[in-house]
Amino acid sequence: MAAKGNEAAAGEALAGNLQKLAGHLAGFAGGQLAHIIAGEMRQSAGGTSFTIASPVDGSTIASVPRGNAADVDAAARAAARAFPAWRALAGSKRRDLLHSIADAIEAHAEELALLESWDTGQPLRFMSKAAVRGAENFRFFADRAEGARDGRSLPTETHLNYTLRTPVGPVGVITPWNTPFMLSTWKIAPALAAGCTVVHKPAEWSPVTAQRLAQIALGAGLPPGVLNVVHGMGEEAGKALTEHPAIKAVAFIGESSTGSAIMRQGAATLKRVHFELGGKNPVIVFGDADLERALDAVVFMIYSLNGERCTSSSRLLIQQDIAPRFLERLAARVQSLKVGHPLDPATEIGPLIHPRHRDKVLSYFEIARAEGATVAAGGAAHAGPGGGTYVQPTLLTGARRDMRVAQEEIFGPVLTAITFKDEAEALEIANDVRYGLAGYLWTSDVSRALRFSEGLEAGMIWVNSENVRHLPTPFGGVKYSGIGRDGGDYSFEFYMETKNVAISHGAHAIPVLGKRS
Ligand code: NAD
Repeated sequence: MAAKGNEAAAGEALAGNLQKLAGHLAGFAGGQLAHIIAGEMRQSAGGTSFTIASPVDGSTIASVPRGNAADVDAAARAAARAFPAWRALAGSKRRDLLHSIADAIEAHAEELALLESWDTGQPLRFMSKAAVRGAENFRFFADRAEGARDGRSLPTETHLNYTLRTPVGPVGVITPWNTPFMLSTWKIAPALAAGCTVVHKPAEWSPVTAQRLAQIALGAGLPPGVLNVVHGMGEEAGKALTEHPAIKAVAFIGESSTGSAIMRQGAATLKRVHFELGGKNPVIVFGDADLERALDAVVFMIYSLNGERCTSSSRLLIQQDIAPRFLERLAARVQSLKVGHPLDPATEIGPLIHPRHRDKVLSYFEIARAEGATVAAGGAAHAGPGGGTYVQPTLLTGARRDMRVAQEEIFGPVLTAITFKDEAEALEIANDVRYGLAGYLWTSDVSRALRFSEGLEAGMIWVNSENVRHLPTPFGGVKYSGIGRDGGDYSFEFYMETKNVAISHGAHAIPVLGKRS
């Protein structure tokens, strides 16, 4: 009876969310997205467009202008025109404006969450926090806008050296389709706080909330041209952005291979680049760990956000003696995850972003079987509501470290478990991939935690914890997982130039040349 009651309540909540979504879609896109250039909504110079569909049921969400080099040029010029005034604006004014944007994001939180869920397939239970986290990003960097230019004083006996920081200029921001709203704010907020203007090229599979962010920012008083959006394909609009001479730096989040392409494309104009790329992050569970908490964290860090998460722990390294029992309990948890409609508040896993991505994830189930791994849970498509791009949450066991499912980023709700004997072997396996974004370590031995963290090749390590972000800390990866760090002052290091000024006390000896008398 109680279960029936819960189901009815969940059904009502879903129906209510669908109704609200319909209102937001009609009010916002009206079936047609637009670039936002110099504060104006524009269609593409080339007159071409593409359509985007919801992963829930394949229904069309909107027609999207397909930006080309002319659109990017118009946006880059708008950003260049807006730059001098934005750079010159007092830090306190930039701070107030960024707080106003955060207020406006919060006021639209429900709308943004519904649109993001519908556009990406991400469950509402996670997306309901996306706007809140986006607003937090704006507030965090707003409060640092006044101090962004502060430098250091480095005096000697003869000179006062002091450093200043100045914004690099108009920057390009290129974002992926997973949690697009949160990731966009993570890049755009520090750029604006630093005094840069921005041209944003969002992912072609999930452009809805990027446009909404620019509109919300304009509505909150951001001057036209400070934040521009050009929709379109990576190899077309994205490429043109990375090659444009007015764009001084490119902040990119996406696949490692795209990062390589951007480096090549930006070489002729000597682009400064910041890359947040792929991962195959290990979670290492030792026999002496708190296994209850470890189990919760292992499940959360690969099956939340559909596993479409750069910091997901997609490789479980589990100590041999505790492996059978731990894996058995893990498989039971995976089997009971609730796959369903993303707008149903009870859903834990929604449809994947796109049929092409769903097919890629499904192909790894065949690869796993062919390589000799065991499919301990899942391993197939899932028939979910709307007939969308659902896959079963999947656990692969009995894997070897050299298997493709242990080496390649699958970017779905798929966990590959590998056993290890001792600490030395665990570290060897953990580091035996080309990626190095994050690592999660479970042990009650403090000395081991220190030793292991020292040896683990990753930009971010959590010990006895899932991924818990603290915005001042550095975020980024090593090896094929990225170049540079975001967060706190690290973000300003990228968006700003450091200038040194040396002023003589007037008494030091200047080397004398050519003086004959
Ligand atoms: P992707 O590299 O295919 O696309 C990302 C963006 O780059 C899109 O906007 C795309 O249009 C654009 N792009 C593609 N080719 C381009 C080119 N030649 N020039 C300029 N722009 C181009 O990535 P995706 O599939 O959208 O996203 C998933 C990937 O992102 C995964 O590898 C994931 O790990 C990674 N990711 C990393 C982080 C991180 O912080 N490290 C965060 C989220 C996602």
